[in-house]
Amino acid sequence: MPTLRDLTRAGLWIGLYVLLALWPLLLLLAAPAQRGGGLSDELGSALGFLAISLMAMQFLLTARFEWVAPPFGTDLVYAFHRHITIIVVVFALLHPITLFGSSLGMALGWLVPGGAPWEIASGIWATYALAALAITSWLRKRLKLPYQAWRWTHGPLAAAAVLLGIWHALLAGRLLSRPVVRWLWLAWTLGWVGLILRVRLFKPLALLRRPWTVREVRPEAGDSVTLVLEPEGHGGFRFRCGQFVWLTLGDSPFAAREHPFSIASSALAWPRVELTVKGIGDFTRRMLSVKPGERAYLDGPFGSMSVDSFPDADGYVFIAGGSGIVPCMSMLRTLADRGDRRPHLVIYGSSELARTLFREQLEALSARLDLRVVHALERPPAGWRGEQGYITQAMLDRWVPHRGRHAYFVCGPGPMMDVAEASLARLGVPLSDLHSERFDLV
Ligand SMILES: Cc1cc2nc3c(=O)[nH]c(=O)nc-3n(C[C@H](O)[C@H](O)[C@H](O)COP(=O)(O)OP(=O)(O)OC[C@H]3O[C@@H](n4cnc5c(N)ncnc54)[C@H](O)[C@@H]3O)c2cc1C
Repeated sequence: MPTLRDLTRAGLWIGLYVLLALWPLLLLLAAPAQRGGGLSDELGSALGFLAISLMAMQFLLTARFEWVAPPFGTDLVYAFHRHITIIVVVFALLHPITLFGSSLGMALGWLVPGGAPWEIASGIWATYALAALAITSWLRKRLKLPYQAWRWTHGPLAAAAVLLGIWHALLAGRLLSRPVVRWLWLAWTLGWVGLILRVRLFKPLALLRRPWTVREVRPEAGDSVTLVLEPEGHGGFRFRCGQFVWLTLGDSPFAAREHPFSIASSALAWPRVELTVKGIGDFTRRMLSVKPGERAYLDGPFGSMSVDSFPDADGYVFIAGGSGIVPCMSMLRTLADRGDRRPHLVIYGSSELARTLFREQLEALSARLDLRVVHALERPPAGWRGEQGYITQAMLDRWVPHRGRHAYFVCGPGPMMDVAEASLARLGVPLSDLHSERFDLV
């Protein structure tokens, strides 16, 4: 049920992406090859330019422009960001292979640092940075690289790969042959440098001027805690229920130590924002002992998983596991505050009853909404008559409505989401009625 506006926006974004990615090829057409080397020269150069261009576009995808993600969803944008790196690596490797052809063996001597003239060495170093970037990202979990350490290397490696690549194209390519082409290339480069400055300098400065205070801390079931945050001396921001923010706590926004968390509170409780966090690692476990009065910075809101994207649905079905219930709570609380009268369903997988997040709050919401809550417990207590074990297709089939047009929201651990998404598709739920959000962006 995406609206025509969403589809138009998605089409426009895809068009703009392709245009921006292909734009450097126009420079190639405008700058004739110096060596007049024929097809392999043209193809090799084009592959190099495309690799640099697609790599630079990665900054645009992750620069957190509020207007980039909405038609697709943040996790899809990040998934695209990850997958496009494969194409960048392939193009970057094919670039010298195509250019050098049969004399590639001779060029291999340049792989040793210091062995090549600078115009070639800059390209080789760009490729090394790109390879390090790809390997540390694809194998981060297998290499047991802590997220924060990975993040601190990711940005500089990406900037090094792009800037060295751009420098290599300027020195080694044919851009120097025509001043207008050279200036256009420099202007294009400055655009990307500006984007990096926006992310690393201007955005943190803007956040620094809009601090938030932790007003209240509420312990929750299952090693979780709710932080109630209020803006300090500014009006906060409006958000759509189901959206998320990047939270910096106990650090400056320049430290780049922010973590994404869904907003748990009603969109009508604005400007107050509640975040509910499950302690699973260094940062989130530290949050369990946060005290009221602590300063925080919120970058957002982001994300497009919201009931507001499906205003005409006959009702909403939320399928959640663990802390995946948090964005659903924001949507349910907002629906309750709006006095929504449609029938809604929550299917919620937890490990144990005592560790089920928001159990009482869901019960309270059932009194304000036409809401049915189905708990599925991995380890149910004796005498439990409800659903048991992980969420399965058979379980979904028992509960999801078989009449009317409903919108489905899925959020939780990766394996649960895979099962839920595939099961809903098999049960005939159209892809356009399904919206999911993954908590592991990388
Ligand atoms: C859109 C979105 C919404 C989320 N909403 C909630 C929520 O409402 N409640 C909740 O408890 N959790 C939520 N999470 C998950 C939460 O962000 C991670 O659990 C948290 O960042 C883990 O940090 P850590 O240092 O405690 O754990 P770690 O052990 O360091 O990390 C565990 C995993 O969390 C991810 N992660 C860690 N740090 C970051 C970071 N800075 N940025 C992005 N991902 C990171 C990585 O995949 C990592 O492997 C959400 C995640 C996303 C992407």
